[in-house]
Amino acid sequence: MKSYMRMSRLYAPTLKEDPAEAELASHRLLLRAGMIRKGASGLYSYLPLAWRSIMKIESIIREEMEAIDAQEMQVPILTDGDLWHQSGRWDDYGPELMRITDRHDREFALGPTHEESFTDLVRDELKSYKQLPVTLYQIQDKFRDELRPRFGLMRGREFIMKDGYSFSADQESLQQCYDEEKDAYAKIFARCGIRALPVVADSGQIGGDTSVEFMGLADAGEAELVYCDDCGFAADTEAATAAIQLVEGDEGDLQKVETPGCGTIAQLADFLKVPEAGTRKALALVDGEGKPVVVFVPGDHELNDVKAEHAFGAYHMMTDEELQQFGLVKGFIGPIDLPEGVRACGDVSIKDSQWWAIGANEAGYHFVHAKQGRDFTISEWVDVITAKPGDICPKCGQPLKGARGIECGQVFQLGTKYSATMGATYADENGKEQPFLMGCYGIGVSRTLAAVVEQHHDEHGIIWPVSVAPYEVEVVALDTKDDLVWPAAQKLAQDLCDAGIEVVLDDRKERPGVKFNDADLMGFPYQIVCGKRGIKGGTVELKDRATGERKDVALDEVAALVAQKVVSQRA
Ligand code: ATP
Ligand code: MG
Repeated sequence: MKSYMRMSRLYAPTLKEDPAEAELASHRLLLRAGMIRKGASGLYSYLPLAWRSIMKIESIIREEMEAIDAQEMQVPILTDGDLWHQSGRWDDYGPELMRITDRHDREFALGPTHEESFTDLVRDELKSYKQLPVTLYQIQDKFRDELRPRFGLMRGREFIMKDGYSFSADQESLQQCYDEEKDAYAKIFARCGIRALPVVADSGQIGGDTSVEFMGLADAGEAELVYCDDCGFAADTEAATAAIQLVEGDEGDLQKVETPGCGTIAQLADFLKVPEAGTRKALALVDGEGKPVVVFVPGDHELNDVKAEHAFGAYHMMTDEELQQFGLVKGFIGPIDLPEGVRACGDVSIKDSQWWAIGANEAGYHFVHAKQGRDFTISEWVDVITAKPGDICPKCGQPLKGARGIECGQVFQLGTKYSATMGATYADENGKEQPFLMGCYGIGVSRTLAAVVEQHHDEHGIIWPVSVAPYEVEVVALDTKDDLVWPAAQKLAQDLCDAGIEVVLDDRKERPGVKFNDADLMGFPYQIVCGKRGIKGGTVELKDRATGERKDVALDEVAALVAQKVVSQRA
């Protein structure tokens, strides 16, 4: 018969103090609650409580994969170097690939991801279009020699990943496999209690997405996002092309004004008494061909490095010497009387802006009422700014919100990238050999656990969503020597178990304060406190960890009540 776990036997060595090395809440709380321990940099052990949560996340993944006919299997973690040479990634992957040489001097790598292994696996087995599509996946440890392993489970050198690969005969089938995985991922993260936004990482020629990253919203996230509450649009600020709330300068005749000491946008806006958005910022750079370029952007936006590289090649911002060399005055650059040979570009967001307040190419002077078309022209429009909250959703026109995100998973249409280079083909309807169209689909299982904690905690500890909680209910027995309390607490714990609930019974001979603190730190969704006074009157105290709400409930009703609450939230 299924029984409850006694806290006195649980291997969950809690820490009283915050560990100094832990910056993020997830790292700190998982360590403090006795759920993980560090072996070496980027290497963690999952202690029993964390492992139970990991297994629940994995079960959710397995259920959703089964629903779309993705089949679970395993390939070796240790991968043959030959395969990496065939795909070209032995050289391309760089120092992140953990390489090993065996006693015969043969090369191997600890798998950081397994496109090569799966492509190799099917290339001699899947022979005909009639056998396709096939989607295979595994849940396994992955290895990456990260430059900066950090934040506990967030960026490890060994971590748990679900990685899946689909093999299709045509684009339509690949699209279908990809869409099914994408939908499954949304369900998986929702079931884990994670608010995750699907962020388009890559767009195809036909406008649809070919890669989406699932970003768990959290201040601790590395990615900066903009998203729209109205239509669900979400993008990395670096990739988004959002319209801006255009603020125009004042109308009037062109006027040169003395602006002493106004070499920055903040100073200029302050001096002219206009919002920064109402000014135009000039950025001087040298493009990939060594030619000088000045690019104008809205005063309140920043140039985006990735986009700028797209527009200008391997560019760099001008040094003071280069500014001088090209005849440009730092802090006072503008499109009127720009030195010869300097190309004037503008960000598309201000293409329709007529009235500019802008540098006069003369130290200590700006132009106001500069009118595009009348006083100056811009030779080329480019998309180079980083989007920010308050910009306009390109899909529906509503203002965008800002957030940070943790990449919990990614789906990707690979096409023939690996099948073509590795010679993995099938025979099409006409008997002609064609490379498979592949998709790959990854979830960072251990990172997802950390993301759950980032989204669900308070100053006292973790607040587990029922679906991934190590245990669902904790029965806190306060007076373990009392001959009313102790039997009642044990019976309650067993009654809950019999109802299929996962229970920890705090049977330790500790002070109540210690038990309450540990209960909040470990964060099981419901706490049932059995004390002398209550039990005498036939009641216990039920605490909902998420809301903090406490109420007295009749001892003989509490098991059924809590069981019903738990089951309804299991997802
Ligand atoms: P990142 O940009 O964060 O380094 P990635 O894009 O390189 O991640 P993928 O190759 O897409 O990662 O791997 C699939 C998933 O594995 C990621 O979405 C992420 O959740 C997880 N993951 C990747 N690297 C790590 C790591 N070092 N530690 C923990 N989880 C990781
Ligand atoms: Mg990724």
